[in-house]
Amino acid sequence: MTSEKECLEQQYRLEARKWLEENIDPIQEKGPFSTLHWMPSEERETQHHLDCQRLQGKLFEAGYAGITVPTEYGGQGGEGWMQRVFREESISYQVHTGFYNSIISMMLPALLKYGTEEQKKDHIHTLISGKVSWCQLFSEPGAGSDLAGLGTRAELDGNEYVIHGQKVWNSAAMYADMGILLARTDPDAAKHQGITFFLFNMRQSGVEVRPLVQAHGAGHFAEVFIDGARCHVSNILGEIDKGWGPTRAVMSNESAMIGAASGDNAKQLTELAKKIGKNTFPSIRQKLAIVYTRNRLLQIMSESIQAAVRQGKPPSIHPSIVKLFVAENRRKEGNLAQLLLGPAGVAVTHEASEWAMELLHSRYPISIGGGTDEVHHNNLGEQALGLPRDIRVDKGIPWKDVPKG
Ligand SMILES: Cc1cc2nc3c(=O)[nH]c(=O)nc-3n(C[C@H](O)[C@H](O)[C@H](O)COP(=O)(O)OP(=O)(O)OC[C@H]3O[C@@H](n4cnc5c(N)ncnc54)[C@H](O)[C@@H]3O)c2cc1C
Repeated sequence: MTSEKECLEQQYRLEARKWLEENIDPIQEKGPFSTLHWMPSEERETQHHLDCQRLQGKLFEAGYAGITVPTEYGGQGGEGWMQRVFREESISYQVHTGFYNSIISMMLPALLKYGTEEQKKDHIHTLISGKVSWCQLFSEPGAGSDLAGLGTRAELDGNEYVIHGQKVWNSAAMYADMGILLARTDPDAAKHQGITFFLFNMRQSGVEVRPLVQAHGAGHFAEVFIDGARCHVSNILGEIDKGWGPTRAVMSNESAMIGAASGDNAKQLTELAKKIGKNTFPSIRQKLAIVYTRNRLLQIMSESIQAAVRQGKPPSIHPSIVKLFVAENRRKEGNLAQLLLGPAGVAVTHEASEWAMELLHSRYPISIGGGTDEVHHNNLGEQALGLPRDIRVDKGIPWKDVPKG
């Protein structure tokens, strides 16, 4: 006999299927190689960002963004299974909203956990609807892997902090209205202890965003110079000087998000092998099977982590494993795409060339963004294997006394 829950799930599934059919482009229709994440020019990057914002709004209006977010914060107040069903149904549709998807995945759990009622009411609704664009202002020229060494300063002036410093590698910062910003509020404390997490208005004087253009023309990142910009104390996430807690939450969600958002490149590579008649080559078939297997494993790991995040539970798999797995997948996929296409893989002479080039280029940043491979290996060594901690010559020393390069 069918239970009430199964009936509900089936009904929800059919409604989602119908809505997707009527409202969203299937990936196949636009061609399997149309799913670029990084556009090869600034103009296309900007257009892509606007398209993603529109799509985020459309998903929100239809009740498919913020599915499990409580209704008082603008979400649907739904259950975890709804999110799962929607993901299953939407897998072959173009529902990925680029950096909106990324920043929501990173920020939302941290906002829900550390935000005040006012912050949740102010920011969650506009975050999940895409009305307000956010960026992550963590890394600095001297603080990437060693993020806690950051030097951007925030000094209290009445009810506002006045901020000076430089951030770098900030994805989509040129479009952002708001940023999650880390700044040092107590230079006398040890480096992890004097950092505050700000919900920072990017649209004010004292904020200069300079786009960074990559070798293949994409303009994914910017550097951000902050000179006397302000942030009210009510926009601190968590407690003053204790920003490391929400920061860790964001970073852990970032690793999980990168795993979940990696796309089904196995399908596209198989399609490509068929199209150019290489699907009978034994060595290509071996490689395709390896990529397929790794993508399936990644999906299973990501599902498990996402389910835990939705329920506010610790993930059953360390997010660093997923991040490392994605990076290795991308290297294998990029190499295989180039092997299949040969010279056409690095010149736009085939309909799949742009896509293959993106795979090739993204082999490198995927091993850096969201924490480098070495940093994730260190995390696993310490947190999963119980190995002695990485050497810390600055442990317990006030940040202001730590030698800086
Ligand atoms: C695609 C992408 C998107 C990004 N988006 C953002 C963003 O939106 N916002 C943001 O703030 N930042 C962003 N970043 C920046 C990213 O977080 C940093 O690049 C990353 O943390 C590495 O820092 P770094 O570049 O300063 O390298 P470094 O920290 O200087 O590392 C240099 C090398 O030293 C190694 N290394 C460093 N420390 C150790 C150690 N303890 N043990 C072993 N090896 C070590 C590293 O693994 C690396 O190989 C992004 C980066 C990329 C590539």
